[in-house]
Amino acid sequence: MVKLFQCMSFFLFLSNACVSASTSPVSLKLTAIKVSDNVYSIVAPSYGRPTAENQGWNSNSHFIITGDGVLVVDTGSSESIGQAIKNAIQDVTEQPIRWVVNSHSHADHWLGNGAFKSSEVEFISSSLTLQTMAEDGPADVKAFQKMTQGITGESPLIYPTTMIDKSLKRQFGHEEVEFHLAQNGHSPGDIYLWLPNQRIVLGGDLLSTHYLPIMTPRGNVTNLIATLKKLEQLAPKSILTGHGEPAPKSAISRDIAFLTSVWKGVKTGLSQAERVESIVKRLQSSLGPQYRAEYQDFDSSIQYLVEMMVEKQQGV
Ligand SMILES: [Zn+2]
Repeated sequence: MVKLFQCMSFFLFLSNACVSASTSPVSLKLTAIKVSDNVYSIVAPSYGRPTAENQGWNSNSHFIITGDGVLVVDTGSSESIGQAIKNAIQDVTEQPIRWVVNSHSHADHWLGNGAFKSSEVEFISSSLTLQTMAEDGPADVKAFQKMTQGITGESPLIYPTTMIDKSLKRQFGHEEVEFHLAQNGHSPGDIYLWLPNQRIVLGGDLLSTHYLPIMTPRGNVTNLIATLKKLEQLAPKSILTGHGEPAPKSAISRDIAFLTSVWKGVKTGLSQAERVESIVKRLQSSLGPQYRAEYQDFDSSIQYLVEMMVEKQQGV
């Protein structure tokens, strides 16, 4: 049962609603916010999973205007959201979109790829991300249709073709970009981008501003903590995330300390045969005073996080 759960797409697991007949096209008008002279973010106002209310738009995209074209990071939950992202980019620059990077395999970050497909566009991610996309993508399209009552539609599965399987630097126009593997911290094959000349990190779902670290069935807690420590050493000026507003620098050390506390708290509980509900309550009361104001979903998500860590520590 648990093995099956771990092999299932994260979104297929979340999806339990019925498909409705509605297939309204998305008519979102998205706006880019300026992060630096040539870096912009399109920040989704809603957090969590795709729903009918948010029309499937629950995740952020970012773009870099390089002088030689535009590099886009993440494309949203559907082809129509991808199109809305593309429109928002074209409101800012006339430079052609030439590169699309998918930070990881979760479908709210890449099912919009179809809107960008052209012989002029190179799609970039990692081999493990590609493998996971291929495993989960068809079911995720269906899961998103269920979650949004059909609004996200039949997004085509457009996969990356350029693989980043080790850290590397690459020049895009006048912008130097470093690609780094995030050690499967949030999901298998996840990558993040570092712009050394601007000290900006584009971190996908490795952290978020006002919400608990997003742990998923195939994430790796200790690797996530290790990756966050690397990010901390980079001392970024700006942190662009997969969900929520750009994060303050303090979010990195906050998430390291919080994840470490929960991980250790779960370990201690399991070593003493403590019941999971008791571990949740204990951590809720010991960590709540410090973190409740930091994480808007502290009380609603701590149980999920603890349960996920219990499964990981039990190796099931
Ligand atoms: Zn994710």
